[in-house]
Formats: sequence, C-alpha cells, structure tokens
Amino acid sequence: MPRSRAVAPLALPSALAVLDRLLRHYPSPDTELVYRNAFELLVATVLSAQSTDRRVNETTPALFARYPDAATLATAALDDVEALVRPTGFFRVKARAIITLSHQLVQDHGGAVPGDMDALTALPGVGRKTANVVLGHALGVPGLPVDRHVLRVAERIGLTRETTPEAVERDLCGVLPPEQWTAMSDGLILHGRRICRPRPLCPQCEVRDICRYPFKTAGRAALDLDAPAAGAPTRRRKAGVPIVEASRTPAPDKSGAYVSRTTKADRRAPKAESRTPNAARRSSSAVGARKRGRR
Ligand code: SF4
Repeated sequence: MPRSRAVAPLALPSALAVLDRLLRHYPSPDTELVYRNAFELLVATVLSAQSTDRRVNETTPALFARYPDAATLATAALDDVEALVRPTGFFRVKARAIITLSHQLVQDHGGAVPGDMDALTALPGVGRKTANVVLGHALGVPGLPVDRHVLRVAERIGLTRETTPEAVERDLCGVLPPEQWTAMSDGLILHGRRICRPRPLCPQCEVRDICRYPFKTAGRAALDLDAPAAGAPTRRRKAGVPIVEASRTPAPDKSGAYVSRTTKADRRAPKAESRTPNAARRSSSAVGARKRGRR
C-alpha cells in the first residue's frame, strides 16, 4: 500500500506580498461604481447593497440627472425616488434612506459629504463599509472597505483569521501603510469577483503559491487553524497516519474551479447574490427527486 505523504503548510503570507501580486494582475484597482463626486458615490454605495455595481451604474444617471446634489434629493418626493431606484432592489428602503441621509447632509454639513468616519457613520443608513468606500475613493482619506469578497479572499489567503468586517479591517490596516488600504480592498474585491469566487479558480490565480487555501481545504488541522480549545473533544485517528494526505488535496473540476468546503465568509454572503431563485428552485427539486428515488 502506498504511504501517505503529509503536506507541509505554507508560512503566513505577507499582506504586502499579496498586494504586490494583486497589483500586478489589477494594476489600478478601483471601485466599479461610476460617480462624479463624493455625494454621488455615497448614494451609489447605499444603492449597491444587495445589488450589483452594474445595476447601480445603470440606475444612477437618471437619478442624478433629476437630483444632482443633497439639497435637491432631500426635498424629493418619495414615490418618484422609489421609481428611479427600483431596479436596484429593496427600492422602498433605499429611496427612504438616500432622501433621509441627504436631508441630514443639508442640515448638519451644508450639503457636503463629511470627510471623517464618525460623521459619515452618523448618517442614516451609512455603516463602516460605505464610509470607507467614500473616504478612500472620493475624499482622499485612507479607508479599507470590507465587503463579502474581502472577507472571503483575505481569510482564504491567510491574511486574517477573523470573520467580522471590523476585525478583518483592523487586521489588514494593522499590517499595511494607510496609503495602501484602499488599493488592498479594491484588489481583493476584484480578485473575489473574478478569480477567488465562492468556487475559486485556483489554477488561474496569481496568488496561489502564497495562498494557504489549498492547504486549508486539504485539512485545516494540519495548519493548526482549527486547533481545538483545551478540553474540547478531538477527532480520533490511527497512530502514525497523518491528518493531511496528499490524496485529499482538492482537484479542480472540468471548469477549473476547486470544489471545496464553504468558508465562513461564504456562508455569510447574502443568499440573494450567491443563489438565484431559479437556482434555489432547481436545487430543492433535485433534492426532492433524490428522496423520491430512494423511496
Ligand atoms: S489560490 Fe485559490 S483560494 Fe487562494 S486566492 Fe487564489 S483563487 Fe483564491
């Protein structure tokens, strides 16, 4: 019987080394939202929740043609704004949010978008991610937005063990110079959309030789990522058999994607984006068919 071969774990990759690879592949990473000023980016980012940048970019020209600044949007009729932003989804909530935040911008900041985190997150409907997008892209203030792509890709590569946006932001900002924060976020987002998708295309990846994901999927215990807490139950294994075996390293399927376990970040991803209604219907009818077949 062939002997099992243990896989040696990689060292933790340096954030700067990862950024260097990402910048080689995406030389000028930037947000894919189209905007002309901080107000437009703020509104576009609010509209992008549970939607796509492309859908938002198709929607905002008509919105900003009619309401070009906070003063005009603050006095807009709710039903008119709802009709304009309807294609982005959740249009009633979003319409109310952008009217309310415009009103607050006029009342507290003379219609201008403030350039600091506390003032931005005090606006209705504006969280850290939206504030960082606006700070980093439109106001020249360092900011590292953490969305579901940043969460997933940074955790897979091994840049962080954290699972919340605030903690991941803290980890990445702690090891990068402020002038690189926004570029890192943009690079991870683009990489998460194009290569390191929920089913990652590892064979096409610029970062694969310093990414820890293949080792994690082969067996997280080998990297000590999931070391059990003291007193916790542990898996039993036969003496002399390594936890990670070369034969368990995931292989790409026909499309080149690696089929592997879902990460914590993936499980947090909004279902609306990761699974279309049609896909959900197909999946549930397939499960039903399998059950019927077993009967
Ligand atoms: S090697 Fe795979 S998991 Fe790692 S960053 Fe690239 S696509 Fe993502």
